[in-house]
Amino acid sequence: MDKQPPTQEQDERESFLTAARDLWPVAKGSLARVARPCGRPKECPACRNGQRHPMWIFTFRQGGRLRCRYVPAELAPILRRALGNGRRLEKRLTEEGEALIERYRRDRASRRTDE
Ligand SMILES: [Zn+2]
Repeated sequence: MDKQPPTQEQDERESFLTAARDLWPVAKGSLARVARPCGRPKECPACRNGQRHPMWIFTFRQGGRLRCRYVPAELAPILRRALGNGRRLEKRLTEEGEALIERYRRDRASRRTDE
């Protein structure tokens, strides 16, 4: 059985999936460096001296609620890269919405000329 040549839509799907495949790791939210007391003033000399602990906080929205997670320092650069990829993926998704409408209009116009 002969293999059908790829349709334009399959090409565009492949182009999207290829772009998305390179956007890993991916995440959505924001990463901030903050300085806080660790919450163990009795055991922590730094906190007793009024010093604060620098830490990374990841803030994200889940089911409409804002949530926060502490991020281990060694994970912060990876998460930052994931957030950059997330922004690129969102930009691509926005473009895909417009491209979908453009494809529809182009297909409709070419069907008209075929008739
Ligand atoms: Zn402390």
